[in-house]
Amino acid sequence: MPRIVMKFGGTSVADLNKIKAVAKRVAREHHAGYEVAVVVSAMSGVTNQLVGYVDGVTQGGNANLADQREYDSVVASGEQVTSGLTALALQEIGLKSRSWQGWQIPIITDNAHGRARILDIDGARLIAALEQGEIPVIAGFQGVAEARRQSTLGRGGSDTSAVAIAHAIKADRCDIFTDVDGVYTTDPRIEPKARKLDRITYEEMLEMASLGAKVLQTRSVELAMKHKVRVQVLSSFEDKPGTLIVNDEEIMEQALVSGIAYSRNEAKITLFAVPDRPGVAAGIFGPLAEAAINVDMIVQNSSVDGKTTDMTFTIDRKDLPKSLDILEKSRAALGVKQIFHAANVSKISVVGVGMRSHAGVAQKMFQTLADKGINIQVITTSEIKVSVLIAEEFTELAVRILHDAYELDKVTSQLE
Ligand code: ADP
Ligand code: ASP
Ligand code: MG
Repeated sequence: MPRIVMKFGGTSVADLNKIKAVAKRVAREHHAGYEVAVVVSAMSGVTNQLVGYVDGVTQGGNANLADQREYDSVVASGEQVTSGLTALALQEIGLKSRSWQGWQIPIITDNAHGRARILDIDGARLIAALEQGEIPVIAGFQGVAEARRQSTLGRGGSDTSAVAIAHAIKADRCDIFTDVDGVYTTDPRIEPKARKLDRITYEEMLEMASLGAKVLQTRSVELAMKHKVRVQVLSSFEDKPGTLIVNDEEIMEQALVSGIAYSRNEAKITLFAVPDRPGVAAGIFGPLAEAAINVDMIVQNSSVDGKTTDMTFTIDRKDLPKSLDILEKSRAALGVKQIFHAANVSKISVVGVGMRSHAGVAQKMFQTLADKGINIQVITTSEIKVSVLIAEEFTELAVRILHDAYELDKVTSQLE
């Protein structure tokens, strides 16, 4: 029997009627002859509310500074509720169904609480359930770490649960049901002219996700790419095909630019007048790495006399207080004169595999932004993307003018 994973995001299970609709959709696939494993998120808004509770009891009002084991124990609860309700809704329409929490499967993760990575999933119990005609409903976003502690996979982590489950139970496909009918050239909430893509490559999707397109969690795309899980993103409200994530060879004509991503979750730190000697970068970034803080864009500039250097880099905005704390501690030892930070920045990126073989993509981006007087603070590039850091207030404008500049609303291939 063909086997699929159906994952429903927060808006798809936002209330009881939607959960009943999910059950009907699942029943349809079940009756069509599929073995179905379901993965659910928390009701939309619930995880934010739970994080808010943790903020409320934490000094500084910031859940990121809380004990992350307890943070996980609180925020994982949203998915427990929806998994049970969905199993009940399935039973109500005559199907055999059981909910599964991360620890019951188990989904083993590392100990990086709050942003844990999946180490192993034992698919045996789920497969046994499927073979008995049961529909397992798995609580997304959560797993179990050392000492049987509850863990969570980082915001948006149910996508990763779904892909990892699909791999563990050897599913033929992983369908991600959400509130948009696929992956678009950019966030359709910002640019109404954004166009739905029938297909996108794993590589491009990986860049889009990691650069801010939250339609899929980055880690889910990494996993899908690594284990060759076939992923489709589609609407849970409309009955039509979505976007398939595919290999390079499955795309006939590659566009020069496939999409624009943006991220407001950015913060910028500048260290002024750092002594310019070997070991300085290691001295700055080592302690941040030890605290599991990801540093993204980095620029370093030597001063005229060559004795000092200014170092600017970006981090996730939620890591700003922790990072400043860490840097302040090593500041004297490093001889850093001044530390400046800004949280009102965002990152805009253009992504496309066609960039590999075509020049001029970056230039078009810079010119388009310049024409509207948008200043670029930091630039980074890779083979298939160009990212710039700009003032947050220009986020929407930048996305729209770039979408226009690369004519992403048009279907024609741009490689002629
Ligand atoms: P879910 O709760 O189903 O996981 P998310 O809110 O996490 O849904 O992700 C879906 C949202 O991602 C969409 O509503 C859309 O606003 C946003 N999004 C951002 N970039 C894109 C894009 N390129 N294509 C489609 N959706 C995008
Ligand atoms: N409920 C979790 C969150 O809001 C996980 C998810 O939705 O994927 O981040
Ligand atoms: Mg999501």
